[in-house]
This record gives sequence, C-alpha cells and structure tokens, in this order.
Amino acid sequence: MSGAGEFDLITRIRARAAAMAEARGDVELGIGDDAAVLRLPAEALLVVATDTLNAGVHFPVETVPADIGWKALAVNLSDLAAMGARPAWATLSLSLPQGDAAWVDAFLDGFLALADQHRVALVGGDTTRGPLSVCVTVHGFVEAERVLRRDAARVGDDVWVSGTLGDAAGALSQWRGGEGVETALRARLDRPTPRVALGRALGGLAHAAIDVSDGLLADLGHVCVASDVGAELEVDALPASEALREAFDAEARRALQATGGDDYELCFTALPAQRDAIVAAAREAGVDVHRIGRIVERRGVVALSGGQPWTSSRAGYTHFR
Ligand code: ADP
Ligand code: MG
Repeated sequence: MSGAGEFDLITRIRARAAAMAEARGDVELGIGDDAAVLRLPAEALLVVATDTLNAGVHFPVETVPADIGWKALAVNLSDLAAMGARPAWATLSLSLPQGDAAWVDAFLDGFLALADQHRVALVGGDTTRGPLSVCVTVHGFVEAERVLRRDAARVGDDVWVSGTLGDAAGALSQWRGGEGVETALRARLDRPTPRVALGRALGGLAHAAIDVSDGLLADLGHVCVASDVGAELEVDALPASEALREAFDAEARRALQATGGDDYELCFTALPAQRDAIVAAAREAGVDVHRIGRIVERRGVVALSGGQPWTSSRAGYTHFR
C-alpha cells in the first residue's frame, strides 16, 4: 500500500475501537489477534448479516468518507433491525486505492458515531488495496420467539411501514438530474437511520418484516414470495416527508416512494387486532408507522390509487440485470 501501511491503518482503527470493545464486556479479544473471541449470551440466537458498498454502485463516488462509514454500518444494522435483533459486534473489510490515513480517520468518524449509538463494538476486519469497497458484517442477538422472518406474513395481516419513503431515491434523482440536491433528502441518502429500536419492539408482535433497501414494491414482493401470499398496497397512504413533497410533483413522488430504494425503513405485517399495540410500540421506539395495505391470498403485489391499479415505470433496483 502507498501512503500509510496496512499495519499503521489497523493500529489507528484498533485504537479507536478499543473503548466500546472494553465497555461491552463481551469482547474477550478484539482487533489485534488472528480472530476475535466473543462471549455469547446464554438465552439468545446469534444473528449475522453482511453487506458490501462499492464506490459508484452503492454511493456516488464523491460521497464524503464519514458518510460512507455511517452508511456501511447503517445498512447492516438495518438488516438486524428487520430480524428483530439487537446489535452487538461488527467486522469491517476495507479495500482502499491507497493507504490514506486521513480517509480512514474520517470514515471511522461516521462509522463509530453510529456504532456508539447502538453500542456496537468493532472487533475485527481486513485491510487490502484495491478499488474502494467497504464490506461490513454485523452480529446481534434475538430471542427465538422474537425473530422477524420474511416468510411469516398471513392472509388478513395489515401491511405497515415506518418513517417516510422515497427521500433517498429523491436525492439520487436530483443528483442524477444535475440539479442541486435538497439537504434533507441528501441526509436520508447519506445517513440512513436503521430502525433498530422498532425492530426490537416488533419482535413477538409483528408477523413478517423486511427492511426497505431495493424499493417498497420489490421488498414487499420478497415478503409475499417467501410467505406464499400476495399484497394490496394503497399508494396514496405511503408516508412522505415535507422535503419530498416540496421537491417533486405527486406522480414523481409516488414513484419514488413505491419503487425508490435506500430507505432503510421497516416494512412489516401484523394482525389487525394488534393495531393499537403496534402504534404504542412504535411510539416507544420513537418512530412513526403507517398502515399502507393488507396481505391477501392472491399472489403478487398490487398497488392501488383511488381504488384503481397503479403502475410505475420504475422497478426495484437489481444488480446484474
Ligand atoms: P491476519 O493476517 O491474521 O488476517 P491482519 O493483519 O489482516 O491479520 O489483521 C490484524 C488484526 O487487525 C486482526 O485482528 C484483524 O481482525 C484486524 N483488522 C484488520 N483490518 C481491519 C479493519 N479494517 N477493521 C477492523 N479490524 C481490522
Ligand atoms: Mg487479514
């Protein structure tokens, strides 16, 4: 590696990760040995998720390193949230074009800010030279009866979503159009909020859950296929932020909400009898939830607007299409 060597970089990372590893009390060995040694709680299942961010594919190349650090962890914590798990540890594989210590420091500013919020200890990783790519693996715990699976939706369930939809896709759309990107939308693209507390609160209450990364229609479709059911979605009921309403007309906004990716909200299903409990759980978790449709027997996801079928020219984001 040119610039700082691999071991200089690892030393910096280790120094900054040490406090949380110490504070958690379940990291026997963190960064520095051949592998991490971790203490598992007695009464929980281990939940593991991994996600890679490649420059130019998952974030615009000019994204600042602190935001890349935040997002690399956020998308992984979002997967744990969608399982109803509480996060504990992370590993970080960095591929860097050069050994740029300032870049790594800035990256860690974002990564560790979010890690601290969720008491996640960085316990290991790998540092290599190559095109900019960040792969994070997270580990968390969930009680067996609180796992939120994709295949657990039932006919008659309500479909819910947290927060607002379409903001990140709105930012990308403005960015691609060469216009200025609205600050509030840009923040949702660069620093998504993983709904960890909501996922925890929904365990044992909701049936199925997924985090919205590819776009609501696509992700709800994944739930339906896994559960062998269908869904009807009320497009007019999809929650939108003020910033999105101001920046896009109704039709463009709907397309962004229904099919734009990178929201990292939770979409989940639950019995209608649980409506009050769900609203209370969400309030406790500090996030709004909206009822946006229902699970039906007929396969497929049907989007409705004013009672009529609604279609958009955009589809969920798929790699290797
Ligand atoms: P090895 O050759 O045994 O794989 P490395 O030199 O790759 O060891 O890593 C040394 C230590 O530093 C290990 O504990 C590893 O987990 C940790 N490490 C390496 N890169 C990172 C990184 N990007 N983030 C966190 N820990 C890292
Ligand atoms: Mg290694």
